[in-house]
Amino acid sequence: WTADAMHNASTNIASEYELGSNGTRRANAVLLMLARNSELNDAITSVKELEQRFNRRFNYPWVFLNEVPFTDEFKESMSSIVSGPVSFGLIPPDNWYQPDWIDEEKAADSRAQMVAENVVYGGSVSYRNMCRFNSGFFYRHPLVQRYKWYWRVEPNVHFHCDTDYDPFLFMEENDKLYGFTITLYEWPKTVATLWDAVKEFIDANPQYLPANNSMKYLSNDGGASYNMCHFWSNFEIASMDLWRGEAYSKFFEHLESKGGFYYERWGDAPVHSIGAGLFARKDQIHFFDDIGYQHDPFQHCPRNAEVRRARNCTCNPFSSFDYWPSSCLSKWEQVLRS
Ligand code: GDP
Ligand code: MN
Repeated sequence: WTADAMHNASTNIASEYELGSNGTRRANAVLLMLARNSELNDAITSVKELEQRFNRRFNYPWVFLNEVPFTDEFKESMSSIVSGPVSFGLIPPDNWYQPDWIDEEKAADSRAQMVAENVVYGGSVSYRNMCRFNSGFFYRHPLVQRYKWYWRVEPNVHFHCDTDYDPFLFMEENDKLYGFTITLYEWPKTVATLWDAVKEFIDANPQYLPANNSMKYLSNDGGASYNMCHFWSNFEIASMDLWRGEAYSKFFEHLESKGGFYYERWGDAPVHSIGAGLFARKDQIHFFDDIGYQHDPFQHCPRNAEVRRARNCTCNPFSSFDYWPSSCLSKWEQVLRS
């Protein structure tokens, strides 16, 4: 396989991220979207909104990834609406498809069982491929490798407020590693043995956990069990150094060895959240309260009326997920303060 196409107006990417069009310093960051060709219209919606609300002032590069080549229509449409450089990459097959060592009979039984129990995406192999790729491979893709920071964007999401500052520089200057907007509970049936694997790993490798980690956000009983809280990973502004570091790399290898991405339906959201929650300090995780964000069926709207006015937000704070019973935000904030 090779990187599919480089629709890049510039020949000097290295200098691209040092100065924005407004001449200010910028971060080594990328706007990243995994998408299918069939999602073109929804992808356009997301890209146009993020350009309008943020990137037209910053011109960060976009990278689109897919396990099959993007169509010319996809590439041409995207190239015409982005304000920065854009490239389109093909995912190496080994990073996407179910590995040969997975016992397909066992995996198929589990899928059938989840379908019978009405688990969302319970019968889908491609969804599992996507979750495993997002958990352990996207940050190693050749088109992504050169960047440190990423903002994950999905097709058909909405940005309800202006982001008039650079969130990547904010993260860098404040020693943050992981940023989120929505936190909620995972479906227990998708991660039945995930926490067993986590405990095995941290018992064997306690040196990877900083003292002020976020274990209390993930577990209500001192680490004995997982409470299902996770950051919703369809929105992430984060450092890939977190994923590329020794702790998370070994952690991912350990999870991979269990086969749970296929024998269960481990999501990249709980996997990232547990990784960030255990291997970063809690003060390195940032709640982007000021970014209005919607991925159906949930949305987050800034809590502060001043912020909503200053950023021209179009969302309704009463629709915000933050204080729904199924949100983990109050738990997160309680842990952060403790
Ligand atoms: P949900 O948000 O959990 O309902 O899952 P989505 O269907 O939105 O998928 C999450 C992300 O992975 C989105 O960016 C999708 O475009 C992408 N995605 C999901 N399945 C596939 C797939 O089979 N191929 C590709 N290329 N992208 C996929
Ligand atoms: Mn989605």
